[in-house]
Amino acid sequence: MGSTTTTPKDFTVTIVGGGIGGLTLAAGLLRRNVRVQIYEAAPAFAEIGLGLSIGPAAHRAMPLIDPQIREIYDSLVTTHADSPGYEKYRQTWFEILWASGEKEGELLMDLKALPSGQTTLRRANFLDALVGLVPPEIVHFGKRLERLTESGEGVELVFDDGSAVMADVVVGCDGIKSKVKESMLPEESKVTQPRYSGMYGYRAVLDMEDMIKAVGEQRARVSTMYIGDGAYGISYPIMRAQKVNVGFYILSEKWDCDTWVRPAKREDMERDASNMGRYVQSLIEHMPDPSQWAIFEHPPISTFCRSRVAILGDAAHASTPHQGAGAGQAIEDAHVLAELLGDSRVNTAHDVVAAFKAYDEIRRPRSQRVVTSSKENAYLLCLCLDGVGDDETKLKETFQSRLRWLWDLDIEEQAERAKQSMLKHLELRRDGP
Ligand SMILES: Cc1cc2nc3c(=O)[nH]c(=O)nc-3n(C[C@H](O)[C@H](O)[C@H](O)COP(=O)(O)OP(=O)(O)OC[C@H]3O[C@@H](n4cnc5c(N)ncnc54)[C@H](O)[C@@H]3O)c2cc1C
Repeated sequence: MGSTTTTPKDFTVTIVGGGIGGLTLAAGLLRRNVRVQIYEAAPAFAEIGLGLSIGPAAHRAMPLIDPQIREIYDSLVTTHADSPGYEKYRQTWFEILWASGEKEGELLMDLKALPSGQTTLRRANFLDALVGLVPPEIVHFGKRLERLTESGEGVELVFDDGSAVMADVVVGCDGIKSKVKESMLPEESKVTQPRYSGMYGYRAVLDMEDMIKAVGEQRARVSTMYIGDGAYGISYPIMRAQKVNVGFYILSEKWDCDTWVRPAKREDMERDASNMGRYVQSLIEHMPDPSQWAIFEHPPISTFCRSRVAILGDAAHASTPHQGAGAGQAIEDAHVLAELLGDSRVNTAHDVVAAFKAYDEIRRPRSQRVVTSSKENAYLLCLCLDGVGDDETKLKETFQSRLRWLWDLDIEEQAERAKQSMLKHLELRRDGP
């Protein structure tokens, strides 16, 4: 926490949205003596109960934001060592298995994630625990932002119940359909709405016993990606290996439905899995709900900030889930922003404008690259990435090199670069007219 001040600052950060991004940022700011208010649309903190896997870079960022976040995470995570006899997979991220073709059922590779290995949890449990880091009196529920407007006095937020508040500075953590983004970039937002990524999927959480019946002990207990021609499956244990998070994703150019989730029939699922081998077939037989989930992503935008307003997490760069990196990127954002706003040289709302610019410069290139690389990862998993296809050697090399880039980030160096950039913006402003 380098040059963090202990005296209160002359501004309050208003956070819109209390998901993983908003709560992580709030915890990091509070720890750095920055005042925070949170406005959340839902009547209470809530999260769908599916699984989440966080990669090593975000895992390293957690204690730097607030050691309690890492303690919470580590106390909740499931690793392969939670299954007796599977301790030797402690550093495995996923085993990758052929799901179609001649090698169906054979292992392509044991993909490691050093040093943490696979760490997964139930999203709702993580969110519940993060809530404990934020005093209840700073959270305002049932406040769905409609729009915000900046004036000389600050930023006015207007909610759908007709109420309004003034804020010094705002960080939009309001997810992929961000209203903060729409107000911040009104013209650009018309052409950068979230877009269908060309894939939909089926998702479920199964009991470990059912999973073992479906695919056997080894496949149930070791996180697995099933790579196939035009589709892929994924499974990983959660909740101390009592449950298993399961997904099956299919490439499909069109999504001709107004909603992002649509009811489907078991026959649709079976048709989608018709060229998959026994493992995926058996997985889908055990998946209780055939609803189809369209996978959307965020097109690149020109900036993550404008004046006193910034956006973070899915509001800025929602990615497809094919690399397990979306929440991790929100956590990396929160680390950089908390370090900047907590810095002793940032004391007024005007200083925050410089901090936001630096945050944008450092975080935008990486997080937008994650959106692209996550989509490419889907092609890799569906054996149709240009130049790789189903070539065994190239698949192994590509899986490893892509994750090295994602995970081998020097988190502290990233924040330090952001601070250097912020200092330049602060100096420019002080030297300015
Ligand atoms: C199928 C799937 C699987 C995934 N798996 C992984 C994974 O394994 N690993 C990983 O790292 N990531 C994964 N992700 C991505 C991850 O879920 C997101 O990147 C992460 O949840 C983003 O957090 P966030 O706080 O930015 O946004 P959100 O979690 O969307 O939170 C936004 C919050 O803002 C509130 N809100 C929304 N609109 C308003 C408004 N107008 N006013 C006030 N409040 C508002 C919402 O109620 C919510 O509380 C997955 C995503 C999907 C779809």
